[in-house]
Amino acid sequence: MVSFYPGPSQINPEIPLFVQQAYENGTTSCNHRSNQFMDLYKATLHTFKKKLNLPSDYTLAFVSSATECWEIITQSYKNLATTHLYNGAFGEKWGQYNQNLGGKPNLLPYALDWTPSQVFDRLESTELICITPTETSNGTQWPVQDLQTLRNTSDTALIAADATASLGGIHLPFELADIWFASVQKCLGLPAGLGILILSPKAIEIAQKQPNTYYNGINNIVKNANKFQTTHTPNVLGIYLLNAVLKSRDNIVKIEKETKAKQKFFDNFLQTIPHLNYACSNPHVLSPTVFALLTKEANTIKEICLQEGMVIGNGYGEWKHNTIRIANFPELKLENFKALAAVLLRILK
Ligand SMILES: *Cc1c(COP(=O)(O)O)cnc(C)c1O
Repeated sequence: MVSFYPGPSQINPEIPLFVQQAYENGTTSCNHRSNQFMDLYKATLHTFKKKLNLPSDYTLAFVSSATECWEIITQSYKNLATTHLYNGAFGEKWGQYNQNLGGKPNLLPYALDWTPSQVFDRLESTELICITPTETSNGTQWPVQDLQTLRNTSDTALIAADATASLGGIHLPFELADIWFASVQKCLGLPAGLGILILSPKAIEIAQKQPNTYYNGINNIVKNANKFQTTHTPNVLGIYLLNAVLKSRDNIVKIEKETKAKQKFFDNFLQTIPHLNYACSNPHVLSPTVFALLTKEANTIKEICLQEGMVIGNGYGEWKHNTIRIANFPELKLENFKALAAVLLRILK
């Protein structure tokens, strides 16, 4: 079975081998305050910086999940004037939970096939901007150029970016935001159960000025990360697998090229197929890592693909019934897309 679900998705085929290694070398039972764990943390940080081009002054922390990061960020900066920019279900939920936790964020939804001016024209002065550059629910993505404009127009504000469906699949412009986070079951090709939180020096400096009483808050997370430890007993096996998978992969610049080559293949294929189109009609904001496709045949496509050994993602949120979603993550190869295209052609032509 090949899973094109946009998370959890196809995992790296060497995982069983790496799990066996982790069992044999004692990682799976090591204590999270031990030297063995701290060495693993250091090694993973080194690999992460090298393979994903993370700037050397950014801090890498391990948490439980991306959605936990929504809370960590909200709690850690709750005194800052906060703005949430979103055009889909994930970004919207993050904003809603900020409100549920007692915050008074400024919520700025924008259109599916948005243009940057629609967003920038409405952005007022604020201290924390929360964005979802890759919106997994509808397959849209902020172009790097617009992240650059956001950075330039809001240079004193902190920018927090939910990179769950892109970290590991494309090169992220880390310097254009202060906080990035993701879960590992998307572009990193790992089993679920580990979150990654990345912080710039400015994110840490501003957090330290906040009254921080939250146990899994940024100050406590950073205090532990500086010792190569975590606030809680983390998913140690997950961290081991993250290091092992990243070590086995090419640098992200090369991976991004492959991601875009597969996207191009799929784009070209879509043009030959009637009645299957991207949900978003603006080609400049299409995500290379998640495709959301409008179709009246969603159920038929999912059923027949399943019979052919391919799992297709359901639509999400308001798009549940009239879209399908297809992940273009690094563990899904060009051959997989060719096989998928052949089946889709048979169904839709
Ligand atoms: C998948 C996803 C999440 C949720 O990740 P969890 O691991 O379930 O916490 C959050 N944001 C985006 C953009 C996602 O794609």
